[in-house]
Amino acid sequence: MSGAQTEQKGFYGNFGGSFVPPELQEALNYIEEQFNKYKDDKEFNDEFKYYLKEYVGRENPLTFARNLTAKLGGAKIYLKREDLNHMGAHKVNNVLGQILLAKRMGAKRVIAETGAGQHGVATAMGCAMFNMECVIYMGVEDTKRQALNVFRMEMLGAKVIAVSNGQGRLKEAVDEALNDLIANYKNTFYLLGSAVGPHPYPAMVKHFQSIISEESKRQILEKEGRLPDAVVACVGGGSNAIGAFAHYIDEPSVRLIGVEPDQAATISEGVPAVIHGFKTLTLLDEEGNPRPTFSIAAGLDYPGVGPEHSYLHEIGRAEYYKVSNDEVLDAFQLLCKTEGIIPALESTHAVAYAIKLAPQMKPDDIIIVNLSGRGDKDVQHVYNLLEERSK
Ligand SMILES: *Cc1c(COP(=O)(O)O)cnc(C)c1O
Repeated sequence: MSGAQTEQKGFYGNFGGSFVPPELQEALNYIEEQFNKYKDDKEFNDEFKYYLKEYVGRENPLTFARNLTAKLGGAKIYLKREDLNHMGAHKVNNVLGQILLAKRMGAKRVIAETGAGQHGVATAMGCAMFNMECVIYMGVEDTKRQALNVFRMEMLGAKVIAVSNGQGRLKEAVDEALNDLIANYKNTFYLLGSAVGPHPYPAMVKHFQSIISEESKRQILEKEGRLPDAVVACVGGGSNAIGAFAHYIDEPSVRLIGVEPDQAATISEGVPAVIHGFKTLTLLDEEGNPRPTFSIAAGLDYPGVGPEHSYLHEIGRAEYYKVSNDEVLDAFQLLCKTEGIIPALESTHAVAYAIKLAPQMKPDDIIIVNLSGRGDKDVQHVYNLLEERSK
């Protein structure tokens, strides 16, 4: 598999790296050492593949969206069905990989932070499965807004710690989780949910999520006998997108397209800065602090992005575009009606861009859209948004 990583210490061009205090660097060095030890280990990878098959239900299909393609009249659209995974999204791939690593490292505890709760729920699920103690840090404000996800985590056996420092949001939850890691890293593993953070996390998350493009490449070669012309994925922190791109990065004929919400357009509008211990494109306010973002899709609401995306953007290997909430709402309804598939609002950003792109391409061109998750969780929200729009 290809990698854009250009130096040992996790730099992707000018982006990435590790900008953390020495105590935390010690913990990260230990994780890096263990990851490097196991990532190419046959037994470890066999175990990972076993659980991807038996627990997650992989491989998932690459579905030809026949009706949507006919309606748009252009390139053929294929959907990579991460929505059909156990728990309904791609996050489980990374959670399983990191928990298996934690187990090999002899960790007894897994900690994570969560904003909207999706990553916390996925982590709690994995910990239940592997009988690990699980502690989830969550801003107190987020625990109020996402009470149902707090309950889900608790049902799965996790302890949810509501962090009331500062503004009681994701940033404070990250700080608390990092303090826990510094104090306990010999028996505790910090499970990060996207391709962000200091080295080695972006490389590690990409490694586990690259199963998406490993499968889609094999599947499109079987179905069409050739590579796609474009791969389209939504970008929050960037984990489903980097996994969907990974095996095509070294195939210059394949356009790689990341799609962001227009009110959280980190790559399209960001500037280089260090946030949460790594350098990347970031949305900053006038004082140089991370700017509050907004997205109708909770999973895309993050002011930074994984460093490899910043790099792929800088060298022009991948393209990044914005879509509006209206385009997302239209795409959501169109995919439901034409294909009988309810997409996650996050994933719908990729669908919305593909809907604009396909008619500009030829009928024998091929687009793969990474459908990162299913939308059952979003139906009430979409109902409210459509009500509001019709006023
Ligand atoms: C969390 C989530 C995302 C955003 O995270 P990435 O790391 O950018 O992939 C996208 N889609 C779904 C369904 C999610 O749950």
